[in-house]
Formats: sequence, structure tokens, C-alpha cells
Amino acid sequence: MSKPYELGGGDVADRQGPGLTRRGFLRKGAAAMAGVTAVAGALSPLRELKRRDLPTLERLLQKHYKEMTPDDKQAVLKRIAEEVERRFGVRPTVTDPPPLPGVEYVYALNVSRCVGCRKCVHACVRENNPSRQPEIQYIRVLKMQKGSIDVETSDHHYDPPLVPEHDSYYLPVQCHQCAKPPCVKVCPVEATWQEPDGITVIDYDWCIGCRYCEAACPYWARRFNFAEPTIPRGELNPQMAYLSNRPRMRGVMEKCTFCLHRVRAGRLPACVEVCPTGSRKFGNVLDPDSEVRYILEQKRVYVLKEEVGTLPRMFYYFDERGSRYHEPIAPVRPREPEGPSEGGGQRS
Ligand code: SF4
Ligand code: SF4
Repeated sequence: MSKPYELGGGDVADRQGPGLTRRGFLRKGAAAMAGVTAVAGALSPLRELKRRDLPTLERLLQKHYKEMTPDDKQAVLKRIAEEVERRFGVRPTVTDPPPLPGVEYVYALNVSRCVGCRKCVHACVRENNPSRQPEIQYIRVLKMQKGSIDVETSDHHYDPPLVPEHDSYYLPVQCHQCAKPPCVKVCPVEATWQEPDGITVIDYDWCIGCRYCEAACPYWARRFNFAEPTIPRGELNPQMAYLSNRPRMRGVMEKCTFCLHRVRAGRLPACVEVCPTGSRKFGNVLDPDSEVRYILEQKRVYVLKEEVGTLPRMFYYFDERGSRYHEPIAPVRPREPEGPSEGGGQRS
């Protein structure tokens, strides 16, 4: 009798080297699940095992993203929409926008203008549906001592009444979408890869949660869901994409995708749109008329940790002409007060 796992044989997982493969992992996982189900009624601690902790059979048997046919993808997007509706009570639009031809995205950040207000951090949270409790944020704004370029001594928990502070400057850090991403190289099951437009993505349905990628990233860009993510119902962004902001589950990795679902539709990332000082510039470096191309050619740009050789697509520069022009403003607090969850990610 044919085994359901082997439909469409020779997939990406089977091409992995010896040792851990996602397929082998899932086989053991499926067997373990069957065992768990059989004894759950008999053992009292397992009675408390939430159903959400177990992936559905459909998800377990899903093909690797790169092997799905258009019909497979439509079925998966429909399944995700149904799952989100059950979980959050909102019917989302789940898409899978492809990379645009002739486009390679880069980011440029004007350090002279950033005032450290953290509006980008919270716009990113509203857009990308990360867990609110436990709290996950993709952007970290580092407060740097003026005159220092040592990010290891920076502070990202600063909390003065007003920013900028006179003795500091600010360095927002997020995924740098490296052209040579070590996070991709170490993934044992190819759950993360670089797209042709330069965005490194994660397939949450394929990730086994080993966290090798997190350890390999020199920019602290990856975030792991140690617990079931929660999002209050009213805060879910229902415009979502498979490889970016669809809700995640416990045990998977996530990170910034340059708001892939927005930028591939011709919009700007949420953090660029919200920045009150115009510090953030984003665009197609292959377009000779783009602002980012102008910045890369005309400004003295630098990258963080150049010595590690990952070729990041996030560039920083100081603009000699435009220092901070903004009046001091109150920063968004480093930690929002933790109110009770209104449901969303919680299973009753
Ligand atoms: Fe800096 Fe703009 Fe982010 Fe504020 S929103 S911290 S000014 S990059
Ligand atoms: Fe990977 Fe980290 Fe580079 Fe992002 S910044 S592509 S997570 S190595």
C-alpha cells in the first residue's frame, strides 16, 4: 500500500543530506501523534494537551512550497483562510504574491534623521501579526552613545520622556535580507530561502523549530515562537500572505520580510510609511532612477558587521545636510502594558 507521505516523490526534503530531514521528522511525528492520541484518554497530563498543539494531517502532508502546483497552493491558501477564521473570527484574504521581475529590494536608513521614536517598531507589529503575548517584535531600535559605533554596547530598552536624547543617536535593526544569508545555509530542511527579489522567507508550515537559523544570524533578526502566539481579535491584519504575515504557530521561526505582501503589490513597507522623520528609504536597486540607487551611489553608506561577509541589503548613512529637524517627541514605550488577551490566539 502506498504511503501518503511519498506522493510526488523526490521532494526537497528528500534531497537533504544524511541526518535530519523534515520528511523523516514528520514520519516520526505522525507516529508519535497517533500514540499520543491513543493514550491521551488514559493519562491525565495528556488530557490537558491542547488540540492546537498538534498540526492537522493536511498540514503534515503538505508539499514543500517550491514543489506545490498552482492548485496545491490555492488549496493551502483556502485552508489557511479557514483556520484563521476559526481562530480569530475574521475571514482574511490570504495571497501568495510572486517576486516581481527585474526587482531587487534594498533598504537605506538615514541615521542623522532617526529620533528613536519606535513608531516603526509598532507599525511593523500592526502590519505583520506577530504575537502580542508573548511579545514578538522584528525591529529593534538601538540607542547608541554619540561617538561610538559599537552595537554590542547599545541599549534598546531606553525609556526617556522625550527623544532624541542629546548624547545619543539611534540605529534601527531588523532582518538585513543578506545576499549571502547564513540563516538559509544552516537550515536542515530548506524551510527558509532567498527569493529572487532578495527577500529571505520562511515557510512556517515547513519549519521544524530547530533554531539553527537564529543562531547563525549575526543581526539578531530571527524570532522564535516559544509559546502559542496570541493576537487580540481586533488587532489582526486580515490582508495576509503565505510567506509573510499569516499568523504563526508555536514552535516556528519568523522575522521581517520587508512587508513582502505590500512591496510586491507596489506599496512601501509599513515602517517606511509611518516614519515621521523620513529616515527610512526603500526601493529597487536595479532601477537606476530609484532613490535607494541614488543614495547608494551618492552617500557614504555602510553596513553593520561588514566583516562577517553576509552582504546585507540594509544600508546606513549619515546625511551631512539634514541633521535632526524634528522637535523632541515622546517615544513609544519599550514594552506596551500587558492587558488581558481578548481571545485571538487563545483556544477556549
Ligand atoms: Fe527612527 Fe523612523 Fe523608526 Fe522613529 S520611526 S525609530 S525615526 S526609523
Ligand atoms: Fe538571515 Fe539574519 Fe541575514 Fe536576515 S539578517 S537574511 S535572518 S542572516
